[in-house]
Amino acid sequence: MIKIGQSMHPNWVNGDLIKLDEELRLFNKAGAECCELVLQGLDVVIGARVIEQRMRAVIDVLRRHDFVYTLHLPHGLNLLDAENLEVNMRVFRAAIDFARAAGISLLNHHAGMYKIDDKIKLDGKAPPDSNTMIKNEIEQVKSLAQEAPDIIFCMENALFGTDPEISAAAGADSMIEFYKQVDLPNFKLTFDIGHSYLWNKGDNSALLGDMAKLLPYVGHIHLHDNCGVRVGMRAAFGGNGIVTGGGDIHLPLGWGNLPIIDALALTKDYEGIINLEIEQRFKEYYGQCIAFVREQIASM
Ligand SMILES: [Zn+2]
Repeated sequence: MIKIGQSMHPNWVNGDLIKLDEELRLFNKAGAECCELVLQGLDVVIGARVIEQRMRAVIDVLRRHDFVYTLHLPHGLNLLDAENLEVNMRVFRAAIDFARAAGISLLNHHAGMYKIDDKIKLDGKAPPDSNTMIKNEIEQVKSLAQEAPDIIFCMENALFGTDPEISAAAGADSMIEFYKQVDLPNFKLTFDIGHSYLWNKGDNSALLGDMAKLLPYVGHIHLHDNCGVRVGMRAAFGGNGIVTGGGDIHLPLGWGNLPIIDALALTKDYEGIINLEIEQRFKEYYGQCIAFVREQIASM
C-alpha cells in the first residue's frame, strides 16, 4: 500500500517550532499521510550530537500530528568528502539517535558526491581513484546500517549539476551496484523522480527506463516536477532560474515537463512512501498534487 507524504522546508522552519507545527498542520489539511523531516531545519543535532532538551521539544510537536515520519539527512552531508568524513559520520549517528527517539524508521541521505572542479584542474592534481572512493563509501554505509538494523537507510540519486562528478548516483547501474555491495536488508535506494529527470536532461524514455530498472531496489520515492533543464541546484531559485525553468525547481506536479502519469504507472508493485518535495512557495497546491497522486495510484 503506497502512502503519500510531503517534505518539510528546513529553510522556512529554520528551527522555529511554531512554524514546524504550522507546516505539519498544512500538510495534514492537504491530505498527506507522511512527512519527511529535514534534519538541518530542526536544530536537534548541533555540533554533530543530539541536544537532548531540544530533541524533546521537537518530538512534542511531532506527536501532536498523526504522520508517519521519515528523516532526510542534511543536504550537505557527503560521505565522499574525505576531509569531513569523521564529522559526517557523527552527524549520521546522531540522526540515528534522534530517529529512534522519535519513532522514525527511515533515513534518507544523498549519495556521496565528489566534484572534479576547476581547483583540482588548476592544481594539476589527478582526481582520486573513483573505485576506491566508492568502495570506502560502501563500507561507511554498511557500518551504519549494521549498527542500526531497526532503521531503513535509503540512498538517494541527487545529481543534476553540470560539472563532472564522482558518485554512485551517476547512473542507475552504479546505484544498483552500490546496493548489491552493501547487501543488507535495511539498505535500499531512494528514487527521486525529479532528480533523475534532470540528470537525464528531460529525456522521458531515459527517466522511465532508469526508474523501471531501479524500482526493485527502491524503498522510498521522491516526487516533484521540473523542466528537465540541468543548470545546477544553486542556480534554480536565484536570478531567473524559476522563470526560465532551469534546475531543480521542485514544482507542483504538472507545472514542468515530467511524464508523471507514466512514472506513477510504474509504481504498481511498489509498497512504500511517495514523498512530494514541492517548494514551500507553492504551498497552495500541495492538496491538488496529493489528490492527483492518490487518484493515479487508485486507478492502476
Ligand atoms: Zn529528493
